[in-house]
Amino acid sequence: MVDTETRTDAADTETRRLAALASYDILDTPPEENFDRIGRMIRRLFKVPISIISFIDGDRQWYKASEGMGVSQVPRESSFCKRTIETGKPLIVEDASTDPRFADNPYVTGDPGVRFYLSVPLTTKDGFHIGTVCVIDTKARQTGPLEVELLAEFADMAMDELELRNRATRDALTGCLSRRAFREEASRTIALSLRHDLPLALITFDLDHFKSINDTFGHAAGDEVLKAAAATIMRTMRRSDVLGRLGGEEFGVLLPNTDLAGAFEAAERMRSVLAEREVDIGGRTLTVTASFGVAAAGNGVETAEALLARADEGLYSAKRSGRNRSAAAS
Ligand code: GH3
Ligand code: MG
Ligand code: MG
Repeated sequence: MVDTETRTDAADTETRRLAALASYDILDTPPEENFDRIGRMIRRLFKVPISIISFIDGDRQWYKASEGMGVSQVPRESSFCKRTIETGKPLIVEDASTDPRFADNPYVTGDPGVRFYLSVPLTTKDGFHIGTVCVIDTKARQTGPLEVELLAEFADMAMDELELRNRATRDALTGCLSRRAFREEASRTIALSLRHDLPLALITFDLDHFKSINDTFGHAAGDEVLKAAAATIMRTMRRSDVLGRLGGEEFGVLLPNTDLAGAFEAAERMRSVLAEREVDIGGRTLTVTASFGVAAAGNGVETAEALLARADEGLYSAKRSGRNRSAAAS
C-alpha cells in the first residue's frame, strides 16, 4: 500500500518535473552563445576538457552546451547526471574507474573515458531539478567544496539565463506563451505542417462570464481563476500541444498532427475537465466554464492569422449558442 503510494508520488513528481522543463521550451533548441559562454568559462576555470550544460528529459539527457563530448544527447539510463537530479545535490566522482556506481558505465569503459566528474543540479524556483551543469576530466582528480560552490554559481547563471528567455515569451500570470510568442509559434508550425502535408489544428477558448467573477470576488480572485484555468488546460493537453494567452481571458491551443475531428474531441475534453475543476479562493470554491472554437489548417487557411480567425468564428458561435460548448467554424 505504502509502496504503491510512494511510486505514485514519484511518478507525479516526475510528471510535474517534466512539465516544468517543458515550460522553458529549451529542449532541441540550437546552441546559444549565452550558454556556450558559461561552458567555456567553466572549462577554463576548472582546466578540464569537457563541460556540459544539459537537461534531463523523460528518457534522455540532452545537451544545450557541450564541448568535448561529440554527441548532443545520451540515453538517460547511462547518464551520470540522472543521479544528480534524483538527489538534487552535487555529485562528485574523483575516479569513475574505481567507483562501483560508474566503473561499468560505457562512457567510462569507452569514449571519452570519463574519470573525474563533478555536477550540480539546475533547479527551478519551484524546486524542480530539470538539468545539470557538469565538468568531466579523462584523468582522475580531487576536488573540494570551493569547486562545488563555483560550479553551483555557474548553474545559477544558466538558470537566470533560462528565466530571462522565459520572461520574454511567457505570460507572467499563467506561464502560457505570450500572445506574440504564440503567434510566432503558430506561424512556424503552420508553415511546417503545410510543407510536409501534416494536419494542424487550433483551438481558441474564452472564459464565460469572467467579468462577473471579477465583479463579485475581486480582481485577485479573478487572477487565481485564470491561473487555475490555464493549469487545468495544460494538464489535459498532449506534450506537443502549445498553450498561449491571446488576451485577458482568451487562450489558444496549437495542436500539431491533429485534424479537425481530433481537435474537436480535444476541445470537448478540455471543456468538461475545466467545468469540473473547483478553484479555491480564500476558503470559497468557484467553478468556471469556457467556450471553445476549433479550426484546422489547409483548404485556404494557410496563415496563423487565418487559422486564428477561423477558430474565433467557432468561438463566437459557441458563445452565441449558449456558452460552455465547443464549435467548429462552419
Ligand atoms: P463572455 O462570456 O461573453 O466572454 O463574458 P466575459 O465577462 O468573460 O467577457 P468580457 O469581455 O465582458 O470580460 C472579460 C473580463 O476579463 C474583463 C476584464 O476586466 C477581465 N480581465 C482581463 N484580463 C484580466 C486579468 O489579467 N485578470 C483579471 N482578474 N481579469 C481580467
Ligand atoms: Mg469571456
Ligand atoms: Mg474575452
